Amino acid sequence: MKVKFWGVRGSIPTPQSSVQIKQKIKRILRKISEKQLHDLPAINRYIDTLSPVEAGTIGGNTACIEVRADNQLIIFDMGSGIKNLGNAIMKNDQKTEGLDIHIFLTHTHWDHMIGFPFFSPAFFPSNTLHFYSGHPNLKERLEVQQDYRFFPVALNQMGSKKEFIQLEHNSSINIGNVKITNFPLYHPGGSFGYRVDYGGKSFVYATDSEYKDLSGKNTKNHIEFFRHADLLVFDAQYTFEEAIHKEDWGHSSALVGIDFSVQADVKRLALFHHEPERDDFEIENILKKSIDYGNINYPDKKLEVFLAIEGLEVNL
Ligand SMILES: [Zn+2]
Ligand SMILES: [Zn+2]
Repeated sequence: MKVKFWGVRGSIPTPQSSVQIKQKIKRILRKISEKQLHDLPAINRYIDTLSPVEAGTIGGNTACIEVRADNQLIIFDMGSGIKNLGNAIMKNDQKTEGLDIHIFLTHTHWDHMIGFPFFSPAFFPSNTLHFYSGHPNLKERLEVQQDYRFFPVALNQMGSKKEFIQLEHNSSINIGNVKITNFPLYHPGGSFGYRVDYGGKSFVYATDSEYKDLSGKNTKNHIEFFRHADLLVFDAQYTFEEAIHKEDWGHSSALVGIDFSVQADVKRLALFHHEPERDDFEIENILKKSIDYGNINYPDKKLEVFLAIEGLEVNL
């Protein structure tokens, strides 16, 4: 199973500003000077070693994740990141007989569906889009987003065939040999987590979720849902302090993700739904503090914690 991040930001697309880009350039030039690198090949080699935080970006597009397993093309959420995914599909996958594309939505807040009108495979009559949602009336919600008052092209003007499947809560569905189970999460308007099981590997996508009561009785079901996941993508929009102050805003923190991951024996934890008010270095700082928290509180556990970064691919 391959998991690729196309949009990792929460709430609103967040491009890098000129000020942020200039800061990164100055920082890199300072380091080049400190290292006394003078010839261009050496400078290029050094730049190639830098992380996306230092010499690129964590990414400004909102939630979208691609999963490939058993030759199936499965997408989770249609934030602004789905535009670039659509272009990649057109370049690498599109064939005359058409594609079956399976799209699971956690919920229909804008940051999880605004990219869809720009998803180019949706314009081809040979393609079939299968939409899955735990919420009712998904078709109507997408039609409203593309009402002529808000967007020039209506949903029914996008040429692809479309099928809408409303999922029963806590149920599983098979796409080929890939099993996908949903799980209701606490979020304004409701959100759904998804667990993908295939070939002995598992991926859990649990974004836009607040965990108000962390006593054992209330976390038991979540821990079972996350149990032994090879990769858990977790809503880490807030710091732990912010999560306390922003009760009922519907988001969580990296530290809660670490606690859950340890209790559920998760192998790898990806921090996701990054706060748009934070720059890349501040987000990286949250990662560093989270790793410290894990090392201090769970010194014997082997949990890998990392940032979900646009373009990152994880093979399970
Ligand atoms: Zn969101
Ligand atoms: Zn939301």
